[in-house]
Amino acid sequence: MNLQERDKKHLWHPLTQHKTHSDHIAITKAKGAVLYDENGHEYIDGIASWYTCVYGHCNPYIIEKMRSQMETLDHVVFTGFTHRPAIELSEKLISILPENQEKLFFSDNGSTAIDVAIKMALQYHYNNNEKRGKIIALENGFHGDTFGAMSVSGLSVYNGPFEEFFIDVSRIPVPNSTNLTEVKEQFIKLIKEEKVAAFVYEPLVQGAAAMQMHEAKHINEILKIAQENNVVTIADEVMTGFGKTGKNFASDYIETKPNIMCLSKALSAGMVPMAITSCSQKIYNAFYADDIQKGFFHGHTYSGNPIACSAALAGIELLVSDEIQQNLVRIQQSHERFNEEIKHHPKVASTRQQGQIFALDLNIQMERYGNLRDQLFQSFMKKGVCLRPLGNTIYILAPYITTDLQLQKIYQAIRETINEL
Ligand SMILES: *Cc1c(COP(=O)(O)O)cnc(C)c1O
Repeated sequence: MNLQERDKKHLWHPLTQHKTHSDHIAITKAKGAVLYDENGHEYIDGIASWYTCVYGHCNPYIIEKMRSQMETLDHVVFTGFTHRPAIELSEKLISILPENQEKLFFSDNGSTAIDVAIKMALQYHYNNNEKRGKIIALENGFHGDTFGAMSVSGLSVYNGPFEEFFIDVSRIPVPNSTNLTEVKEQFIKLIKEEKVAAFVYEPLVQGAAAMQMHEAKHINEILKIAQENNVVTIADEVMTGFGKTGKNFASDYIETKPNIMCLSKALSAGMVPMAITSCSQKIYNAFYADDIQKGFFHGHTYSGNPIACSAALAGIELLVSDEIQQNLVRIQQSHERFNEEIKHHPKVASTRQQGQIFALDLNIQMERYGNLRDQLFQSFMKKGVCLRPLGNTIYILAPYITTDLQLQKIYQAIRETINEL
C-alpha cells in the first residue's frame, strides 16, 4: 500500500469532509519552493504551505541553527526558568516590531495567540477594576478555530454547532472610502452602549476572507477611536507578519499602533509550531502588581520551546538580510507585471496586491469548498503548482526564495487554468 492508501485508515484531516473529499496527496520531501509527492511529481508551493515556509522548505541555515539548539537544550519549563534562545528571540523580535511593543508571551499556534490576546484584554480591564466583556471584530475576519478565536471570526459558515457558546462579539464592516463615516458611527455607538473590551482586526489583508484588502488610513480611523476610548486593539498578524505585505508587519503601514499583536505561521519559518502574543508596556503594567491574582495565569506546556525559538531567531535573521529584502522587491515587482496583464483577462473580475500577496477574483460564482473550486485546485496541481483557491479567488503567496522561472510557472498555470474554464 502506498502512503495515500495507508493515510485513509487512521487519519482525520483538518477542514475536511472525508466522505466527499478526494485522496490526500502524500508529500515525501520539500526543498526551497518545491514539494515532492510519493509518485515523484513536483509542485511549486505557491502558498508557502499556509504562509509558513517563507524562507523556503528545509532551509539549511535554519536547520543548522535548530540542530545546534537541539544538541544543547531541547526543552525546559518556561515558568521559573528561562533560556538563551527565548531571550535572544525577544531582543531580535522587539527590534523589528512596532516601537510600542515591549513584552512577548509564548503559545503554540495562531488560534492560541488570539485566545491569549483576548484573555489579556479582558483581564486588563478587570485588573483596572472595569468590567468590560464585549469584543468588536471585523466582518469576514478569520482568527482561528479554538473557542475564543472562533468566536471573533466572522467567517462562520461552518460554526453552526458552536455559535450559541461563543463569547460576546459584535461585528463592524471593514472600513473603506465609501462606508467610513457609517462604520465610525457604528463603532462609536457600540462603545457608548456596551462595555467594549477590545477590537480585533487583521491589518491590511484579511487572509481567509480570500485576501480581501483595505487601506491603512481607513482602519487607522477606527484604531484612533479605540485608543481614545481605552478599547484594547489586537492586531492579528498571524498571516500578515514577517514580510508578507512588503514591510515586516502590516501594522508598519498604519499610524496607530496596536496594543497587542498576534504572531505565528511564518514566525517559526514553517519548521515547528509556535506563536507569540506581544503587547505594549501599558497592557503589561495592568498585570504587574503585588497582588498575585493580577498576574496572567495562562500557560502552555511547550511555551517558549528553545528549538522553536531558534527557528524563529534564524528566520528573522534571514528576513532582515539583504538577500531576502531584495527577493521581496523582486517578487513584488514580478507580481505587479503579472497583475497588469491578467487583470484584462475576460474571466477575471478584479485583482489586488499587497507586497507578496497577489489575488484575483474570477467572474464566476463558486462555493468556498465546492466542486468548481476543487477542479481549479486539481488543474493547478496537474500543472505542477500548488495553489488553493478560496471560492472564486485565486491567490499567490509564494516563499520569498521562489525563482523567476518558478514564478513564471505559477503565472502560466493560472493563465492556462482560467483559459480552460
Ligand atoms: C491561520 C490564522 C490564524 C489561526 O492560526 P492557527 O495556527 O491555524 O491556529 C489566525 N489568524 C489568522 C489571520 C490566520 O491566518
